[in-house]
Parts: sequence; structure tokens; C-alpha cells
Amino acid sequence: MFKTIKAFILIFCFGAFLQSVNADGNLKFTDYNESKTSSVVFRSSLEMSLARRGLKSADFCDENDAVSRRVLKDYGAIFLADDKNLLLPPVCIFASEVSVTDFQKQMRIARARIGDAEIELQSEAMNALLAARREAITAGLNITPRDGAEAARRDYSDTLRLWNSRFFPALEHWRRLGKLTRSDAERLSSLSTQAQIEAVLELEERGVFFSKDFSKSILYSVAAPGASQHLSLLAFDANEYEHEKVRRILARHGWFRTVKNDSPHFTFLGVREKDLPARGLRKLESFGGEFWIPNMQ
Ligand SMILES: [Zn+2]
Repeated sequence: MFKTIKAFILIFCFGAFLQSVNADGNLKFTDYNESKTSSVVFRSSLEMSLARRGLKSADFCDENDAVSRRVLKDYGAIFLADDKNLLLPPVCIFASEVSVTDFQKQMRIARARIGDAEIELQSEAMNALLAARREAITAGLNITPRDGAEAARRDYSDTLRLWNSRFFPALEHWRRLGKLTRSDAERLSSLSTQAQIEAVLELEERGVFFSKDFSKSILYSVAAPGASQHLSLLAFDANEYEHEKVRRILARHGWFRTVKNDSPHFTFLGVREKDLPARGLRKLESFGGEFWIPNMQ
């Protein structure tokens, strides 16, 4: 009789243990998420993803560097995407054109024509986007690329060109207003890209902003060269971002807005919306709708 009760207790405990392990044998994050502070969740989730990919966090991102810290905080959601089916970046900022080209060569890439634009994305991301688009069209809506081919795949040189398209007009603007001297502007122009990014972020802390309308950080307007999610072929800028219904359809297919204040920009994470908090992301509701951003201070 006691033996039977003991056996029942053992079976019950084993069952409870199994429930905390998902089908892949990994511990579920859900309970952990609720009991830990937010920043621990993003970081531990990132650490686990890097470990699965055989990467060390010290090689992935230098957190002593101010630019790298900003990249993690502002664009970090992509590093928590589905790492089984998608190729995620091995570093938080690519240092050169060559490293981006090598990374993109390893991907399965799909091409599609939408309207006048031929866009490229990682295959899974493209399949999900086209499925979302079909669903949108059935509902009398549409999902189309903003600014042509640049809405999806970008190369390192594209990110550099976009950076310059904000950087140089802003230098001229602040020089005319007397916030920067002519020699400041010349010095900033002659810096290396990395040093330029650092200098811009420092100036922005003093309210000298480099976005297109000079009202907010340049990072909410274009990414620092080498840091754009578009380099991973997992980002898509949609014209129809203001339609809540379109955003809901994209979300059902794994596409979410993950860069605060970059409203047309969607990221393919390839996971269900209900699983995002357990991945280390938190939902930020703003005037223009929702964003899923890294859950860190
Ligand atoms: Zn974008």
C-alpha cells in the first residue's frame, strides 16, 4: 500500500517536472520572466540564444562601448528572433562591408516583386510576409514596401549612405543655428564611421539631434552603419503601418514593430505574439500604436 502511494507521488513529481520543460527540452521562460527584473530577462534570454548558436556574449557585443549598448537597447529585439529557422547576426554591429557580405552569403534568400519593387528577405520571413499580404488583400487591405527595394534587404553601403543622408544635413543645420562651429562640423565629418556614431550620440544627449527633422535621435530615423536590422534580411518597411488591422495581420505571421518611434519598420521574429514577453521583450504602447522592445532598463 505504502509502495503504491510512493509510486504515485514519484509519478506526480515527474509529471510536474516535465510540464516545466517544453518539447525541445529547454526550460520554459514564462515563470522566470515573472519572478525576475526586466533587464535580467532580456539578457538571460539573449545569453541562451547566443549559447544555442555557439557564441559568447563578449564576442557578440562589447557592452563597454556606448554605441553597442544603444544598439542592444534600441534594435535588440531581432537578436531574440527564432534562432532555429532564421540566421541571426553573429555580432551586434557589423564592422565592415566584407563581414556583412559574408553573413548574407550564408542565408537562404527569397525574392519577390510587390508592385514596382523587387524585395529580398530570408526565405521564412518572405513566406510569412507574402502570407500576411494575401490575408490583408482578402480583407480589402494591402501590405506594400515603402521606398522600393530598400524596404527589405540592405547592404552595408546602403546603411552608410542612409546615415550620411541624415548626418550631413544635421551638421549644416546645427552649424547654421550656432550650436556647432565650422571647425566642429569639419572635425566630425573627418572622423571614422565608428567615431562619428559615438560623437553623434554624445551630441544628442545635449539635445543636438540628427534625425531628418532634427527633433529626435538619428537612431529612430536610420540605423548606425552596420547595425541595421535590414542587413539581416529580417526587416520590412510597410506603407500601411498606420492600419491597426494590418499590424494585427503581420503580428499573426510573426512580424512586429520592434524599434520604438520607427513606425513603418517591422521585424520578422518568427514567434507568436503571446510568447514575446517570455523571450525578453515588452510591449510599449504609444500614441502611434504598439512596439515590442527589449525588456531592459
Ligand atoms: Zn526599416
